[in-house]
Amino acid sequence: MDESHDPHLKSWVPGANTSQAGFPIQNLPYCRLRKAGSSQPRAGVRIENHILDLTESFSIESVHTILSLPKAERVALRRRISAFLTAYTPGAERYLIPVEDVELMLPADIGNYTDFFASLEHATNVGSLFRPGSPLQPNYKWVPIAYHGRASSIVISGTPIRRPWGQIAQNREGPPVFAPARRLDYEVEVGALIGPGNALGEPISVHQALDHVVGLCLLNDWSARDIQTWEYQPLGPFLSKSFATSISPWIVTIEALEPFRRAPRPRPPSDPQPLAYLQGGGYDAFDIQLELWLRSSRMEEAMLVSRASFATMYWTLAQMVAHHTSNGCPMRPGDLIGSGTVSGPEKENRGCLLEMTSGGAEPLVLPDGATRAFLEDGDEVILRGWCEAPGLAKISLGECRGTVLPARPAAA
Ligand code: CA
Repeated sequence: MDESHDPHLKSWVPGANTSQAGFPIQNLPYCRLRKAGSSQPRAGVRIENHILDLTESFSIESVHTILSLPKAERVALRRRISAFLTAYTPGAERYLIPVEDVELMLPADIGNYTDFFASLEHATNVGSLFRPGSPLQPNYKWVPIAYHGRASSIVISGTPIRRPWGQIAQNREGPPVFAPARRLDYEVEVGALIGPGNALGEPISVHQALDHVVGLCLLNDWSARDIQTWEYQPLGPFLSKSFATSISPWIVTIEALEPFRRAPRPRPPSDPQPLAYLQGGGYDAFDIQLELWLRSSRMEEAMLVSRASFATMYWTLAQMVAHHTSNGCPMRPGDLIGSGTVSGPEKENRGCLLEMTSGGAEPLVLPDGATRAFLEDGDEVILRGWCEAPGLAKISLGECRGTVLPARPAAA
């Protein structure tokens, strides 16, 4: 850690030291934005309720430039930005824009997207619904499971999500129907934006893996469970996931999260130790608090549905990156990794409705008495995430929101 982590550090930016929003000078997440009346995307960094325009002030052309930097240069850039926002230089305020005056875009051009399945509790809870009696596949504790997602349908927080059509099985014998999904769900996840990456054929070791992660965001892997149930064997999810994935606009850097790194949750003694290439990451878990809020079109205020900590994951981000590249598969700046649904041991920790309602058998009861087995049209889903500990500045990951739109009408 360096001076940019000092919890007593103050900024000259108006309102920056109140830390109401969780974006104090110790956070400094990157974002991509457009100014009102301009079509030109810019790189920015958020400080409380302002964005510092990095394209104007630091001549950084794009967020991609930052993502491509080697770790040491990335750390140096953060220290320079921190110093710029700490010691006032006359005229520096001309580079600030109020956050409400910018259009936030996807933080990067995401070239590739892979979604893991790293929570043991999520895998067990979902597995027991799909395969009662043998919820966990025999490979689960050996190999970090993932599927290749679709980068083209990743959208920024706030983008409405249209209910997808798909093939849905009616019963065991009859043919499926092609219809709007009825079992639409969210998944509470953390996303990792990849930095420099590796050349084809050159794996990244578990020890160096986090040098290749620039920062984290919130991710909602929208899922159509009825489409998924019919299509997922033998090659995994496909159209049940690829219609939309929402992410939050802030790349909260690994450097900002440094004070919240923890030893991963110990494996029970009866579990196998990971194979050597997945061992020895050290303090690779991140103590990020996650909450899922739901608001139907008839509710004024959203209700809290679940909460969990990212530190409870069975596989760490470092293990995911090491495993992903272990066959020589290259990762590039702007690639995105999803952690998989973050669930924990208690019912209140279940990170999707499939788990929370036991496959729809125990619906949620909303404050107005309505029930939810799965999402209905007009429902808004809000993920929130932050890090907090005594003596440290609160580091927010912001929010990731999306509202469900009705399915397109049937073709005539
Ligand atoms: Ca997922």
